[in-house]
Amino acid sequence: MLKILLTPMVGGLKYLVRRIKMFELDIDDEEIEAVTRVLRSGWIVYGPEVQAFEREFAEYIGVKHALAVTSGTVALYCALKALGIGPGDEVIVPDFTFIATATSVLCAGARPVFADIELKTYNIDPDDVLEKITNRTKAIIAVHLYGHPADMKALREICEDKNLVLIEDAAQAHGAKYCNSYVGSLGDAAAFSFYATKNVATGEGGMVTTNRDDVCEKVKLLRDHGQVRKYYHVELGWNFMMTSIQAAIGRVQLKKLEKNIEVRRKNAEFLRSEISKIKWIRPPIELSTCRHAYHLFTVWIDDSAPLSRDKLVEYMRSKGVEVAVHYPLPLHQQPLFKSMGYRECCPNATEASKHVMSIPIHQKLSREDLEYIVNILRDVDEGRF
Ligand SMILES: *Cc1c(COP(=O)(O)O)cnc(C)c1O
Repeated sequence: MLKILLTPMVGGLKYLVRRIKMFELDIDDEEIEAVTRVLRSGWIVYGPEVQAFEREFAEYIGVKHALAVTSGTVALYCALKALGIGPGDEVIVPDFTFIATATSVLCAGARPVFADIELKTYNIDPDDVLEKITNRTKAIIAVHLYGHPADMKALREICEDKNLVLIEDAAQAHGAKYCNSYVGSLGDAAAFSFYATKNVATGEGGMVTTNRDDVCEKVKLLRDHGQVRKYYHVELGWNFMMTSIQAAIGRVQLKKLEKNIEVRRKNAEFLRSEISKIKWIRPPIELSTCRHAYHLFTVWIDDSAPLSRDKLVEYMRSKGVEVAVHYPLPLHQQPLFKSMGYRECCPNATEASKHVMSIPIHQKLSREDLEYIVNILRDVDEGRF
């Protein structure tokens, strides 16, 4: 009935009730069959399935070792510990990222020091990193935020010059490239996440990648009770082992990644070209040296917009478009860090937190979904809201 009523109006009716989610899983029969195969095999913990996932992941990234763990946060923690970071050390992290980038440093017993971001890419600013280096600094964590690679060349040079280790937080950047290399292969170690919303999703899960044999050996101990052979423990460790069930899902997800990135890139191209006609929105950029993986499509809403960022978020949600803010606070303003005595430090991060808005970009969006989103923004631009 409703359908019959609406059909003649479709052309003129932009706001047919739509529900556009921020993320949508790309899980189909292949993952279901892979999980069933593992369950029937009787081997659900770490074993050949996880090892196959590790091998395939390492091969895809172009790196010597990949070590599966329980989450991206744990992967960061393991990378830090394996590189010898601990009490008394400082680790420079961007002030604008998901909190795990910084809390993994705290969990390792070290102190995160926040560096500001470049507003061009929202990634850590190498010039500000230089300002934040002290004689306690041991490492830099470069986050490839939203799926766009950080300035790895500049960061690499700083690390070589100051004898620091470089860790990549690639939790949002599976498949992103920097100068033709996949991220995850560009530092001493890298951390990936397979949380449900990420571009490779296993529910929870993570991966450490590294070209360093010493880091690989150390992560193996850390994730398995410091065990070198059955019930023989040489050092303190945890249980961070991935299950075969997750690995089975991950292997299928990895096979789909390139195709899904291409769809996301097409969606991004469409949104970018449409949105660039609107003066108060700045779409994300892709530097010519990089391949953006478009985990998120995050735009800057200028102060000259007809609606403030927060009002626009509210309005888009009222139209059924699940927009989001990544992230509403710079890390130094999080209660956790304020309570630890952190003060104002990073003006660009603070500005970004007030102006950014992420628009759905996932691989399940139809052309009509994308047009629907653009039409809402165009209406706002023309005062129809
Ligand atoms: C998701 C994410 C993490 C943490 O990964 P989990 O698997 O959720 O623990 C770390 N850093 C960034 C930038 C992330 O987006």
